[in-house]
Amino acid sequence: PESRKYTGLVEDCCCDYETVDALNQEVLHPILQELVATPFFRYFKVKLWCDCPFWPDDGMCRLRDCSVCECPENEFPEPFKKPFHRLSSDDLICQEGKPQATVDRTIDDKVFKAWVEIDNPWTYDDETDNAGMTYVNLQLNPERYTGYVGPSARRIWDSIYKENCPKGPPGELCPERRVLYKLISGLHSSISVHIASDYLLDEVNNKWGQNLELLYDRVLRNPERVKNLYFTFLFVLRAVTKASDYLEQAEYDTRHVTDDLRTQSLVRQLVYNPKLESACPVPFDEAKLWKGQNGPQLMQQIQKQFRNISALMDCVGCEKCRLWGKLQVLGLGTALKILFSVDGQNRLAEPLQLQRNEVIALLNLLNRLSESVTSVREMGPAAERLMEGR
Ligand code: FAD
Repeated sequence: PESRKYTGLVEDCCCDYETVDALNQEVLHPILQELVATPFFRYFKVKLWCDCPFWPDDGMCRLRDCSVCECPENEFPEPFKKPFHRLSSDDLICQEGKPQATVDRTIDDKVFKAWVEIDNPWTYDDETDNAGMTYVNLQLNPERYTGYVGPSARRIWDSIYKENCPKGPPGELCPERRVLYKLISGLHSSISVHIASDYLLDEVNNKWGQNLELLYDRVLRNPERVKNLYFTFLFVLRAVTKASDYLEQAEYDTRHVTDDLRTQSLVRQLVYNPKLESACPVPFDEAKLWKGQNGPQLMQQIQKQFRNISALMDCVGCEKCRLWGKLQVLGLGTALKILFSVDGQNRLAEPLQLQRNEVIALLNLLNRLSESVTSVREMGPAAERLMEGR
């Protein structure tokens, strides 16, 4: 049998590494890959301006591989569209002048009868505010290496770790703060894994491929980062399964009847999966948290910190990184909303309500994490052999 570096239970979770790998490979990864390509899940509504609330724009917006290709008008589903309004060309701040980057700032307004307009207390963006929103086809804008490095990127990560989710001395962090740190670190690992999996190897010939050295240096060398990736994956998976009834009954209408039926069926396969239910029925046990006396105050503090992290995404000086940063932080915010909207007895404080965009972010985030877990399993041993033999 293959020798494994990571064994036993994923820390603070209820399933072991072997089970997570097997479930991901056999069940979750194939379903998620197909799901995120469906018309419902591939269009993400996002405000891409660089309007950082913390410091002035540092002029990083024009990197070549950073630009986002937004949707041409005829591309995205009719129900996402009306009513629409256009902004002037002055608004195209971060856009490159490529034809395929044509911007359609068409806005929808409550056209999905089954979807609510509701704000998420964990995020900085007002999810009900449609001004300046645009649609991006995520399939055309893969998360990968963009060349966004240096002080601008460093400042964001530093600000996140130092001010908003400090790791604290070992053993001293309360479980709730430890969860926040691990979620951010796991997301950071996932972003690094995507950079390593799809890296610009040769700029002259535009050749892309794997960068094992980067994977090792940024993630594998520090096993805690791999563990946090698995933790974040299980946390988000738990949120998806906890919201199973909601997700199963939601409306996935994009006027592409066959595709929409397939979307519904894939969601059902994901949230009511017999293999998942028998091998890892509760991927993360949120009922253990918020038990302390100061639960409500702690919740408020952590919510505020997470909102700050969400606001920091507007400071990311590379449009494509900002797109995926915003999507994934909204996805995490949605997972937090699903798992932590509870009263003192760990009962849901109010019936769960999710926005369409939150659901799109949540499942695209789960897919990204699932891809990262796959990449670590597939590329990890080769990267370790290469780098440890250096
Ligand atoms: P960084 O990844 O910037 O890490 C900074 C420091 O954080 C490290 O020195 C280490 O101390 C700590 N650290 C690193 N990883 C972890 C972890 N998993 N857990 C805890 N601490 C950790 N670049 C792209 O090419 N494509 C993208 O799509 C992309 N998206 C981004 C999204 C966001 C929100 C941000 C802030 C940056 C993004 N970047 C992206 C930039 C990328 O994340 C790196 O910042 C950049 O490549 C420089 O890497 P680095 O080696 O300086 O280390």
